[in-house]
Amino acid sequence: MFIKVNQEKCTGCGTCLSSCPFDAIVIKDDKAFINELCQLCKSCLSVCPEGAISETSEESDSKEKASGKGVWIFAEQRGGVVAGVSLELLGAGSRLAEKLGTDLSAVLLGAGEEEAGELIRWGADRVYHCSDDIVKDFNDEPYAALLSELIKEHKPEIVLAGATPIGRSFLPRVAARLHTGLTADCTSLDIDDETKNLIQVRPAFGGNIMAAILCPYTRPQMATVRPRVMKRGEYAAGRKGEIIKVGAGHIGSRTKLIETLMEACETAVNLQDANVIVAGGRGVGGEKGFQLLFELADALGGSVAASRGAVDEGWIPYRHQVGQTGKTVAPRLYIACGISGAVQHLVGMQSSDIIIAINKNPEAPIFNVATFGIVGDFFEIVPMLIKKIKEAKGE
Ligand code: FAD
Repeated sequence: MFIKVNQEKCTGCGTCLSSCPFDAIVIKDDKAFINELCQLCKSCLSVCPEGAISETSEESDSKEKASGKGVWIFAEQRGGVVAGVSLELLGAGSRLAEKLGTDLSAVLLGAGEEEAGELIRWGADRVYHCSDDIVKDFNDEPYAALLSELIKEHKPEIVLAGATPIGRSFLPRVAARLHTGLTADCTSLDIDDETKNLIQVRPAFGGNIMAAILCPYTRPQMATVRPRVMKRGEYAAGRKGEIIKVGAGHIGSRTKLIETLMEACETAVNLQDANVIVAGGRGVGGEKGFQLLFELADALGGSVAASRGAVDEGWIPYRHQVGQTGKTVAPRLYIACGISGAVQHLVGMQSSDIIIAINKNPEAPIFNVATFGIVGDFFEIVPMLIKKIKEAKGE
């Protein structure tokens, strides 16, 4: 069921506006339109003096058509350094902009002018850069206020950000202020050839299906994208673009950052930047099994990751977990030991360049994504691998 405005009858008198508790009616060019905020409460049906508003079973062609131009990415920074995910967003954004025949802009809040220049060399045509103190460190309130203001002023059609703690925290606020949709945690993005809408793909129902989500009536179309899922664009040292200075003097904040505490742990875990990852699952049997994995990772100059199965057993801390509710990684080499290959694990590692699976069950689903599979007992195979690698290195 939909609410429809008969455009021939509508005189644009605006009587209907105050009847809607959801701000779902707008007047444009002297005609009333229903937007996506309509909750079908039907309060407007009886108020039109011309009888122009009615219920219909077909989607109305008098819905407000959204407009916008350009693809934007939010370039996240910490401590003045642009995050890797921002460069991946530039890669994804430039492919979308090319399909739409439009340009690509980045919004950088904090960091210096040199970083803004880097974003251009990584593919941005334009960078909106604010270096005021209030945005030096991440804070939801001023970030949401400033990004919303910029979007309202320039009206991009697409806005992308990283599905990082920062993006996940403040992008929903921006979407709510703009009365538009936001698809979180996308794993792929494309443009519909016919409608030119953004197709936002993300896992749904525990990763069992991939949902393609559209936002056809409002702009911008907003999405967050997991780090390490998209490929970076091409870096061109001589690339030129425009840096537009943005002031935040008028933006206030009721909250202030007092201190940032870095997580202290014995071993640094930077899985998202690792080239080699050795991962263990329930099949490695316990902490002793993980000691072997640390030895193998050490020999290869890599890091150790884990399935949720192993984390739930308490054999290794959560910060090592890869998968839907853990980290997404894409190393050059991923060695999966004693991991069955549940879909929730695969979504976090299947973009790895080379996957080696070691599992004693030849039917384990991990072999479906593996480049090389070794069927056998982890406790026999891994010590042999460590020995061979050490020999090859002359140790
Ligand atoms: P198992 O499925 O128990 O597999 C163990 C494997 O080890 C088996 O294939 C077995 O053949 C093999 N094996 C046993 N002994 C040996 C040996 N000696 N040598 C070699 N192989 C051996 N999982 C994740 O990993 N990451 C996530 O982020 C994640 N998020 C989830 C989110 C939701 C909403 C849900 C519902 C689940 C999630 N899971 C996640 C859990 C996921 O569904 C699986 O339960 C989990 O990945 C299984 O872990 P595993 O492969 O280590 O254990």
